[in-house]
Amino acid sequence: MTVTELVSYEDALASYDPVMGLEVHVELGTKTKMFCGCSTELKQDANSQTCPTCLGLPGSLPVVNAIGVESAIKIGLALNCEIAEWCRFARKNYFYPDMPKNFQTSQYDEPIAFNGYLDVQLEDGEIFRVEIERAHMEEDTGKSLHVGGATGRIHGASHSLLDYNRAGIPLIEIVTKPIEGAGTRAPEVAKAYVAELRELIKALGVSEARMEQGQMRCDVNLSLRPHGRAEFGTRSETKNVNSLRSVERAARFEIQRHAAVLNSGGTIVQETRHFHEEDGSTTAGRIKDNAEDYRYFPEPDLVPVAPSREWVEELRRGLPELPRVRRNRLREEWGVSEHDMQSILNAGAIDPIVATIEAGADAASARKWWMGELARNANESGRDLASLPITPEQVARVTVLVKEGSLNDKLARQVIEGVLAGEGGPDDVVEKRGLKVVSDEGALGTAVDEAIAANAGIADKIRSGKVAAAGALVGAVMKATRGQADAARVRELILEKLGVTEG
Ligand SMILES: [Zn+2]
Repeated sequence: MTVTELVSYEDALASYDPVMGLEVHVELGTKTKMFCGCSTELKQDANSQTCPTCLGLPGSLPVVNAIGVESAIKIGLALNCEIAEWCRFARKNYFYPDMPKNFQTSQYDEPIAFNGYLDVQLEDGEIFRVEIERAHMEEDTGKSLHVGGATGRIHGASHSLLDYNRAGIPLIEIVTKPIEGAGTRAPEVAKAYVAELRELIKALGVSEARMEQGQMRCDVNLSLRPHGRAEFGTRSETKNVNSLRSVERAARFEIQRHAAVLNSGGTIVQETRHFHEEDGSTTAGRIKDNAEDYRYFPEPDLVPVAPSREWVEELRRGLPELPRVRRNRLREEWGVSEHDMQSILNAGAIDPIVATIEAGADAASARKWWMGELARNANESGRDLASLPITPEQVARVTVLVKEGSLNDKLARQVIEGVLAGEGGPDDVVEKRGLKVVSDEGALGTAVDEAIAANAGIADKIRSGKVAAAGALVGAVMKATRGQADAARVRELILEKLGVTEG
C-alpha cells in the first residue's frame, strides 16, 4: 500500500515503541583486497585492479588477508566483544552482476567477534548502551554503472557497465542487537551510535571511515510495536545511509511511516528501502530475503581462522586510547564542561584543536578560534571544520601573534579571513594587508594625547577616580589607529598620562 500522509512524530511515539537494529559496513584501509593481492586503490581505470581470484575464474584460490583479520579483531576488542577461538568464512549465494563469483565470501554462524557493547553519549550527557550482536569479515561487491537513462538508475538505462575494482575489498559488518527502550530518542541514539563507532574506527586506524565516500555506511532496521507488547513488529531495512544526519532522519521517517501504515490497519512489508537525501523520505526497494534463501555453507577454499589467545591479548594491549576516554581526558585538561565538550565533538573540532595545541597554541586560544570564527565560517560555507583551507599550524601561528602582541583579536580575525581566502599563511596576510598592532610607543603616545585633548570631560572623570570611564578613551584611540593598537597597552598609557593608578 502507499502511504500518502505520515503520522506526526509525537503521535507515532504516543502509540508505539520503536525497535532498531543497526548494521554498519566499514571498508578497511588495507593495501590489498581481502582474498587476493590486488590493490585497493580505487582511483584507477575500471577493472584494472582485478585478478582471477576476485573475478571468480575457475581454478583460482583465495588467501585471507592477515591485516584484514587483525583489523577485525581490533574492532571486536574495542567493541568489548568476545573473539572467536576458531571461525570460518561462509558463502552467501545469490546472483547479481556486480558479484562475479556468484557468491559473497562472508561469515555466517561463526563471526570472528560477538557479544559486545558500545556506550554512546546523548546530547543531554546521558550514556546509552548499545549491545553488539557480532562483527564479521566479508568482501565488497563490484559496481554497476547504468548508462543511457536520465537518472543513472537501472530503469530507463540502455545498458550497464561493470567495474570489479571494488570486488573483494575487505569489509567489516557490525550488527547491533535489537535496540529497545530508546523511545522518542531512537533516532538520536542511532546517530550517536554511528558517530561514536566512526570515532572508534578512526582511532583504531583501521579505516578513515569517511561516510561521504562510502567507507562507512549504515543500514537502519526499524520496527514498531504497540506500547506494552513484547514481540517485535515487522521491520523495514533502509539501506546504505551515508551520513550521521541521514541516519537520524531515516529512523525518524520510518517511525512516522510505520505508524501511518499500522494506524490505517495496513501491514508492514519486510523489505529494503532507499533513503532520499533531498526530502529525508524512503521508498520501497526489494522484498527482503531471509537468511535461508542464501543457502549459506562453509567456504571450502579457505582455512578456518583461529587467532591464538596470545595474539588477541597482544592486540588488546596495543589498543589506542578509546575516543570516549580520550574525550574525558581532554575535557579535564582543557577545563571545559560536559556540554562544551559535546559541542566540540559535534562540531568535529577535537582533532583540529589537539593539532593546534601541538603546534604551539594554548588550549583556550585553540578552542576559541576553532569553535568561534572558524566554526562560523564552516557553517556558512557548509563545510567540515577539518576541510577548511587553514591548517592547525596556521591557527597556532595566529594565536602566537596575538600572544606576543603583534595582533589583537580584531586583526587576528582579519588574518584568518585572509588565510581562508587563499592569501597565504598568517605572516603573508599580515604583510600584504598591513595588519600590525601599532606598537611604536611614540605614535601610540601621540594618539593617546590627542584622545585626551579631544575628550577633556572624560579625562577629568578618570582623574577624579572613575577609572571605568577609560574605556571610552581606549575606544577613541583604537578608532584613530584603525584597530591596530594593543588595547591593554593603550589603557595603561591613558592611566599613566592621567596620573591614575588602578587599585
Ligand atoms: Zn584480485
